[in-house]
Amino acid sequence: MGKISKYSLQLSVMLLASALTVYISAAYPSHGQIEYIEIFTEGGIASGCLFLMFWIERLNTDCFRNIYRLLLLSTCFLFLGHLLDAIDEITVELAVIDLMEDIFTPIGFIVFIFANFRWVKHHEEQANIMKKLAKTDPLTGLLNRRAFTEKGNAILRQSADDSGKKISIIIMDIDYFKQVNDRYGHQFGDQVLIKITCKIKSILRKHDYIARLGGEEFIVLLHDTNENETKLVAEKIRACVESLYISHKHEKVRCTISLGAAIEHAQTSNLDKLIGQADTALYKAKANGRNCWELATDPI
Ligand code: GH3
Ligand code: MG
Ligand code: MG
Repeated sequence: MGKISKYSLQLSVMLLASALTVYISAAYPSHGQIEYIEIFTEGGIASGCLFLMFWIERLNTDCFRNIYRLLLLSTCFLFLGHLLDAIDEITVELAVIDLMEDIFTPIGFIVFIFANFRWVKHHEEQANIMKKLAKTDPLTGLLNRRAFTEKGNAILRQSADDSGKKISIIIMDIDYFKQVNDRYGHQFGDQVLIKITCKIKSILRKHDYIARLGGEEFIVLLHDTNENETKLVAEKIRACVESLYISHKHEKVRCTISLGAAIEHAQTSNLDKLIGQADTALYKAKANGRNCWELATDPI
């Protein structure tokens, strides 16, 4: 019963078409020569459309509903148009059949083209969403590690011809973040991560890149930046996280962050090497008491 109601439109069209075929061929039989090739061709196309009418039922889901309706409508019209064309071969010439044929087939074809256009567009949008998801950290909306590595290597390749350009990497890690989770809960911890990343993003330039390396660790690539500017950015990030208060019930929660930076000429640098140096500097900053930054090439 469920299957019948699922295919109710298709079955109705099929029953109507069968009744019409039987009635017209019995009431107005042709007395001339029958074109079997025409019957075979038009009947074949009509059968193909009939098969499609049932087959596309699998698209009847929330995400494809509109495309499904268009395809169903178009295949119904195409089926009726080609069936009438086949009937035409075994009956006398009937103006009303000719007219219906001339209406159903073009309408079906136009709706079919439109449905296919929507189908391609839908898949294009889905592909773009998937591409974006593959590059994005779902919690913070920042680039993920893989996307950052791709971007960083591309920037280094582009800057390799310019001997004056320097590239900086800053790796940062929120201090004692486990305690925030333990005390206020994981959900609040997530809010803290979002707020801190928003704040850091707001102080970076448009052509700098920030990504989430994982957990409470983030990385920034500063484009065409010298040592003093790198130190300035590291201090700005440290200070802005320190001054950020996040409300939890009646309490104001504050976190601090430790940072490690590394800088090199774009021509000679290598992303992995820079990340390694910045990571070592971060360990130093943690060992120095946290809530501070260290520069890998710093002579101190
Ligand atoms: P340290 O100053 O040495 O970095 O101490 P820490 O507590 O920040 O470092 P630790 O590595 O001990 O703990 C990191 C914590 O970060 C543990 C983990 O539960 C938390 N964490 C990692 N990813 C997420 C996340 O997506 N959401 C939340 N809420 N917590 C996370
Ligand atoms: Mg930490
Ligand atoms: Mg960590």
